[in-house]
Amino acid sequence: PAQAANKPHYTIATDTTYPPFEFQTDKGQYRGIDIDMLKAIAKTEGFTYTLKPMSFNAGVQAVQAGQVDGLLAGMSITDARKQEFDFSKPYYKSGIVLAVSKKDHNIKALKDLKGKTVAAKTGTMGAEYAKKMAPKYGFKVTYFNDSNTMYSDVMVGNTVGTFEDAPVMGYAIKQGTQMKIVTKPANGGWYGFGVKKGSNAALLKDFNAGYTKIVDNGQFDQIVERYVGENG
Ligand code: GLN
Repeated sequence: PAQAANKPHYTIATDTTYPPFEFQTDKGQYRGIDIDMLKAIAKTEGFTYTLKPMSFNAGVQAVQAGQVDGLLAGMSITDARKQEFDFSKPYYKSGIVLAVSKKDHNIKALKDLKGKTVAAKTGTMGAEYAKKMAPKYGFKVTYFNDSNTMYSDVMVGNTVGTFEDAPVMGYAIKQGTQMKIVTKPANGGWYGFGVKKGSNAALLKDFNAGYTKIVDNGQFDQIVERYVGENG
């Protein structure tokens, strides 16, 4: 349907790079599960939007400062975040894994991190998990703003591993990142689209309505299949 005259234009923050949820193609276009989902939802509901790629942490802050209308970035729905965000329906299941360099043969579990340093992305569940486990297992944490820099840091050997979301780490490895996952997913949870608590109820309502439609008509599964399907 054509854009309804009374539908606003939204500004939506997304992570700079978080494949298969958001990433830039060679031609500079944004694609991924989150991006294609938003596009399909906007089309169904007749609203328009501008994407603002930024670090995950900057996205969280931009929503809270009212600089953007929402954050769509493989963002985990948590009780703590519910104090500051209203979330859409959950759309993707995830969990946190420890990944190390493919060349590493010593780190097979959290206990092997004793005396070492790991990489984590500021403001994420992975970082929170790392911080929580650090005193128990005796490791240090270095923080980064985006996943690519974090993976590079591990591969050059500055840090011995990283805590990252399972579907994201799995996808990166499938795409050739020279790392391997050594733990089972922990702290499982769901991704949701987030807006500032108490604000933007109309956007959230449209998002949920559109999401339900694209799930019911099979479009959502097609989008997921496009990136993480058997032949993907
Ligand atoms: N799912 C994680 C979180 O919400 C990581 C999100 C991200 O890095 N884009 O904290």
